[in-house]
Amino acid sequence: MFIGHFAVGFAGKRFAPAVSLGTLLLAAQFADLLWPTLVLLGIENAEVQPGSTVVTPLSFISYPYSHSLVALIVWAILLGFGYILLRDARAKVGLVVGALVLSHWVLDVVSHRPDMPLAIGAGPKVGLGLWNSLPGTLATELVMFTVGVGLYATCTKAFDRRGTIGLWALVIFLSVIYFANMFGPPPPSATLVAWSGEAMWLIILWGYWVDRHRQPSAG
Ligand SMILES: [Zn+2]
Repeated sequence: MFIGHFAVGFAGKRFAPAVSLGTLLLAAQFADLLWPTLVLLGIENAEVQPGSTVVTPLSFISYPYSHSLVALIVWAILLGFGYILLRDARAKVGLVVGALVLSHWVLDVVSHRPDMPLAIGAGPKVGLGLWNSLPGTLATELVMFTVGVGLYATCTKAFDRRGTIGLWALVIFLSVIYFANMFGPPPPSATLVAWSGEAMWLIILWGYWVDRHRQPSAG
C-alpha cells in the first residue's frame, strides 16, 4: 500500500488538528520510512521478483524491525509518547500519533501476500493479498486517498497561496508516483527501490511546509 498510508495521515488531522501534517504522514508511513535504511544496511531483505503480486514485483523476504506487529506496537508507543513529551501534548493527541503508526501494519496486512510478520523472530506471517487484484487495490487506495485528502482540505484552510498550491501539488505528486510505480516497468533491484524510498523523507518535509501555510478551519 502506498497512497492508502498517506490517506490515513491526511485524515489524522481531523482527529488531532494541532499535529502538523508532516508528523501525521511520518507516523502513518513510519514503517516504510524505516525500511529503506534497514534494507540498505542489510538488516532487512527484499528482492525484485516479477509476478510476485499483480501490483508490486517486490518480494519482502524479511522485515521484522520495520513491519512486524510487535515492532510496530513498540514504534507506536515510542512515537506516541515521544510526541507527548516533546510537544507537551495531551494523551489523546499522542494516541492519534501512535494509532497512525500502528495503522501501517493493519493496512499492509490487507495488501501484502502473507509476508507480514507478527513477531521479530520466527513466527507466523499474515497477509490478505489485496495486491493480487489491480482493480481492488486501485479502488481501495483511491477511495481512501480521496476521503483522507478531503478531510484534511476541509478541516484546515490555507491562509496564503502556498497553503493551497503546496497542498494540491503534493496530492498530484503522490498520485503521479503511485501510478508510475503501479504501471511503470519493474525496478532493477530492491537496493534501488530502497534508495528511492529514502526520498520519501522529502514528502514528509513537504507535509510540514504545507501545514505551516494552513490553519485549522473553524467548526
Ligand atoms: Zn509498508
